[in-house]
Amino acid sequence: MKRVEVKGSMHERMQQVGEGTYGKVYKARNVTTGEVVALKRLRLEIEREGFPITANREIGLLQSFQHQNIVGLNEMMIEKNSVYMVFPYMNHDLSGILQQTNIIINDGEKKNIIRQLLSGIDYLHKKQVIHRDIKGSNILLNNEGIVKITDFGLARKMKNIDERVQSPNYTNRVITLWYRPPEILLGSTDYGKAVDIWGIGCLLLELFTRQAVFQGIDEIDQLWKVYDVMGTITIEDWPDSDKLPWFEMLRPNFRSHSKFNERFGKMMSPKCFELAQSLLQMNPDKRITANDALNHPYFDEEPLQQKLGFLATVEGEWHEFEAKKKRRQQRDAAKQRDKK
Ligand code: ADP
Ligand code: MG
Repeated sequence: MKRVEVKGSMHERMQQVGEGTYGKVYKARNVTTGEVVALKRLRLEIEREGFPITANREIGLLQSFQHQNIVGLNEMMIEKNSVYMVFPYMNHDLSGILQQTNIIINDGEKKNIIRQLLSGIDYLHKKQVIHRDIKGSNILLNNEGIVKITDFGLARKMKNIDERVQSPNYTNRVITLWYRPPEILLGSTDYGKAVDIWGIGCLLLELFTRQAVFQGIDEIDQLWKVYDVMGTITIEDWPDSDKLPWFEMLRPNFRSHSKFNERFGKMMSPKCFELAQSLLQMNPDKRITANDALNHPYFDEEPLQQKLGFLATVEGEWHEFEAKKKRRQQRDAAKQRDKK
């Protein structure tokens, strides 16, 4: 395993670009090399071992990856009593970009983004790692048009298949609500790679709609939002669904049919729609794998994927953090106007 050096590199902070569960993320410049980097500060609730366990897991996983579409860890750094992870700086994240509705992404560019996302996930899944927190703010883009998956704070190496005799018992409390697949919403603790595929499916739709498709306000509402578009679960489609822990408790008192085609069919090409449908199968066993998705005919259909040219004309750098700040400012300005 590659050792990550702990150095005392001096960095000059430029601005904050992220505010997450861990702490703040800053854009900074290495004063000796001039390299622009992202510094992710670790929350310093030092645990008994002297180093946060979750951070340790994240660092260990990051060190084991080497792929164009997965973020690379440059080094760990200690500066002024804080521990930082140092990453190459990425100009935007997908959440920030999609919220800027004046940024136009064409169909060939969308295809490129989807392909890069699937390549990254395919790499992780071949290494038996589940990301477990796929969403726009964890997808980075740089001005060279490279897409990278980041934030392995919730990622897990899959337990050995043999152990599945007894359920692997992963925690059920993962994945941001809006990107949570039905098996997790129904209490599954032996879910697998398919949870990431659902997240990719949500992001595919989001490239077209520019906002999250299933916006639940709590877990039950989330499941209802999914049922509303995808239709309620049928035993024919998903035979084992009734064995899920919360299936009975959350059994809907209605039956709904899929409105998926009605809602999204006209937005995208038939092949793209077909891929979206395969990524968003309710039954996780029927959900397409990342490897098969990469071979989907959608990628051979015109328009072929194309370089992310829209990045050349984007003004500013957009991460979820700046996008939220802008929205807040717009809201405040509107309030000021109302007062007058
Ligand atoms: P958290 O666990 O707090 O969500 P993330 O790793 O997702 O931590 O970082 C939070 C945010 O910081 C991201 O959503 C992204 O906008 C920004 N960020 C993270 N890494 C980078 C990077 N290498 N370059 C630029 N921005 C980054
Ligand atoms: Mg994150």
